[in-house]
Amino acid sequence: MDFLVLVKQVPDTEKVKIDPVTGTMVREGLEITMNPLDAHALELVISLKEKFGGTVTVLSMGPMNTVDVLRDAIALGADRAILLSDSVLAGSDTWATSFALAKTIEKLNIKFDLLVCGEKSTDGETGQVGIELATLLNLPVVTYVSELIELGSDFVLIRRSVEDAHEIWKAPLPACLCVLKSVAEPRLPTLAGKKRAMDAKIEIYDTKLVGIRPEEVGLKGSPTRVVKVFNTKIARNCRMYADRDVAEGIERVIELIKTVLEGEAG
Ligand SMILES: Cc1cc2nc3c(=O)[nH]c(=O)nc-3n(C[C@H](O)[C@H](O)[C@H](O)COP(=O)(O)OP(=O)(O)OC[C@H]3O[C@@H](n4cnc5c(N)ncnc54)[C@H](O)[C@@H]3O)c2cc1C
Repeated sequence: MDFLVLVKQVPDTEKVKIDPVTGTMVREGLEITMNPLDAHALELVISLKEKFGGTVTVLSMGPMNTVDVLRDAIALGADRAILLSDSVLAGSDTWATSFALAKTIEKLNIKFDLLVCGEKSTDGETGQVGIELATLLNLPVVTYVSELIELGSDFVLIRRSVEDAHEIWKAPLPACLCVLKSVAEPRLPTLAGKKRAMDAKIEIYDTKLVGIRPEEVGLKGSPTRVVKVFNTKIARNCRMYADRDVAEGIERVIELIKTVLEGEAG
C-alpha cells in the first residue's frame, strides 16, 4: 500500500499575535510547525504502513522553510518528502493551491492508494484543499473522517462524524480522506528517526519543473480574493431586572424579545 499525506506548514498558534490595528496575524518572527491535523493524518498512515507495508510520501506547497516541517515528517516515519516552492505561488487561494498540488502529483507521477489530509489548517481554516484536490484528481473523497475501520486491498471503510451522529462509508481505492484528530494520536520522533531526517533528501521543485504556468497560480490564478480580515465584535446591550416575582420577570423578558423581533422585522 502506498500512502500520500498532505502537510501544510502553519505558524505555531500558541505564539500567534494579532495586530490590534490591522486585525491581521503578525507573521514576523513566528515559529512554524506542522499543521496539527496533518500530524494526526501522518500518524494514521505510518501506523497503516507498519501493518500493511508500503511507502509514505509527504507533499507540501510552501516557502523554503517548509523543509523543516518535512524533515519532522521523515523523523516520524515518512519515506519521501516533496516540496513545491516558488515565488509565483504567493497569493494563491485554495483553488490555486489545490491546482498546484494536483499538477505536482501528476507530473511527478506520485502513486498512492490512499491520499490523506487534515480536515483544515489552523491558519487558513477553509477545509477546502483536500476536497478540491480530490476533485481535480477525480478521486472519491470522504470528509470528517473520525476513524479508519478497515483498509482492504481495494477499499477503505471509515467512520465519519457529522453534527449529532456517525456515518459509515466505504470508498474504492484510490481515495482521499480528510481526517479529524481522533483518527490517530501522533507519536514522538525517535532519536534514530531524527538522525534519518537530518540526512534525508527533501525533493524541492519549482512551478516550471512541474509544468505550471505563472498565470495559473498566485493572484492571477485565484478565483477568490480576501477583501477584508477583521475580528468579529460581539456587542451586548444588557438590561438587568431585579424582579422578585419570577412570573412577572418572565413576562417582561417575553415583551422585550417581542419588541426586539418586531424591530428586526420592521
Ligand atoms: C485570495 C487569497 C490569497 C492568499 N494569499 C496567500 C499568500 O500570499 N500566502 C499564503 O501563505 N497564503 C495565502 N492564502 C492562503 C492560502 O490560499 C491557503 O493557506 C491555502 O490555500 C490552504 O488553505 P487553508 O489554509 O484554508 O487549508 P485547508 O483547506 O483548511 O487545509 C486542509 C488540508 O489541506 C492540506 N493543505 C492545505 N494547504 C496545503 C499546502 N500548502 N500544502 C500541502 N497541503 C496543504 C493540509 O493537509 C490541510 O490539513 C491566500 C488565500 C486566499 C483566499
